[in-house]
Amino acid sequence: MQLYKSQRLQVYNSLTGKKEDFEPLNEGYIGMYVCGPTVYSNVHLGNCRTFMSFDMIFRYLRHLGYKVRYVRNITDAGHLENDAEEGEDKIAKKARLEQIEPMEVVQRYTVDFHEILDKFNFLPPSIEPTATGHIIEQIEIIKDILEKGLAYEVNGSVYFDVNKFNQENHYGKLSGRKLEDMISNTRELTAQGEKRNPQDFALWKRAEPQHIMRWPSPWGDGFPGWHLECTAMSTKYLGETFDIHGGGMDLKFPHHECEIAQAEAHFGCPPVRYWLHANMLTLNGKKMAKSTGNNILPNEIFSGENKIFSKAFSPAVVRFFMMQAHYTSILDLSNDALEASEKGYKRLMDSFETLKKLEVSDNTDFDIGRWKQSCYDAMNDDFNSPVLIAQLFEAVKHINQIREGKEKIGKADLELLIETMHAFVFDVLGLENKQEGIGDSALLAGVVDVLIGLRNDARSNKDFATSDKIRDQLLDLGIQLKDGKDGTSFIIS
Ligand code: AMP
Ligand code: ZN
Repeated sequence: MQLYKSQRLQVYNSLTGKKEDFEPLNEGYIGMYVCGPTVYSNVHLGNCRTFMSFDMIFRYLRHLGYKVRYVRNITDAGHLENDAEEGEDKIAKKARLEQIEPMEVVQRYTVDFHEILDKFNFLPPSIEPTATGHIIEQIEIIKDILEKGLAYEVNGSVYFDVNKFNQENHYGKLSGRKLEDMISNTRELTAQGEKRNPQDFALWKRAEPQHIMRWPSPWGDGFPGWHLECTAMSTKYLGETFDIHGGGMDLKFPHHECEIAQAEAHFGCPPVRYWLHANMLTLNGKKMAKSTGNNILPNEIFSGENKIFSKAFSPAVVRFFMMQAHYTSILDLSNDALEASEKGYKRLMDSFETLKKLEVSDNTDFDIGRWKQSCYDAMNDDFNSPVLIAQLFEAVKHINQIREGKEKIGKADLELLIETMHAFVFDVLGLENKQEGIGDSALLAGVVDVLIGLRNDARSNKDFATSDKIRDQLLDLGIQLKDGKDGTSFIIS
């Protein structure tokens, strides 16, 4: 269904700093690129928030009936420590420390990334290209930028000439900076090495003899610059200009600014129509980051094995927590916030049970059509998921009133209510009802408690074969037992 024809979607475009009507280049089709993870360690919950924001956006665009080609890359080379221009490649460093092949590092953390995203019920992107799979495309772009005189080679490395580019273009248009200000702020720094200006950035870096990740090029053995990878992969699959480019706010400068400069130098046109930036997840008020250690892994939350939270929280609850904030707002993770989300999530899921049991009448006291449009209005307003959730709870209130006989609902309206709740809760927000299909959760808890009791008996009789069997078979069903000082508890993943 081409719902997009009757809905007016607006998005906040970081490039213009305004909310704009969304019009794709080709009617009915959308090309969307999101910078993927650098796979040198386990994905933390902050990374997940950015990817989840774009999963929700992808889901809504599909729900509106657009055919979306969603490209999210894997950065498996070229991303240097501290996002800097000099230093060790993050993946090569991990490989050196663990004495394994760089591609083993890449494999391990790509698998981890997919497993975590699966637990969070992400939809897979349409294409997931790797940087190392697109070296030839990157070399071709560099050759062309060199020919145009907007890059220069020094000792086997190639740098983008920001000053020269800025003479006819504007370097800094996305982040709202001026090159002159950047230059005056960096005047003190003398250690710019081979670069003509500190603002110049590497398109290609010479590989020193000890550098293990290396590819032949017209300038000798080397590896691509991090910014160039995204330009090569996005334009290869989405064209010289495409609709949406997304990523975390922290990538706006220099990463996305450099992407714009390279693409404009190479293709002579702006690469992206709408730049969307997702805001950061913080922990204790500070940005969650791998480098500072201020982070938590999703599995540590799902298992409850961490020092920050009082108990385990399921992926669906964490997803609901994330969806309760607008994707452009900072969101702080805390125990209280997760506990509140757990209650809210349960209330929402329980309403589906209630819905099934509602009795129908001849007429309806609640304007379902208007309510349904207000759900669309929320999402049309730059994917405002918290306002959508408020609308869903508005429906929950009516559902409870109907159950208590204080309001009425007609048959067709009930069908529309169920269909709309389903579409927004499961298809658009991507929540899963882990309670669905397993009946009454209190009954399940009772049954698991009986099994925990039998396992405890087996353990006191030193019958470890039986106790392990109970634990393992429950785990196969997605029920994980956790032994603590107050006895054994369980979580459903
Ligand atoms: P990386 O693996 O470091 O390249 O980061 C992958 C994605 O996670 C990027 O889009 C980052 O902007 C995003 N990201 C990193 N830290 C956070 C955070 N604390 N909150 C939200 N997104 C983040
Ligand atoms: Zn990127």
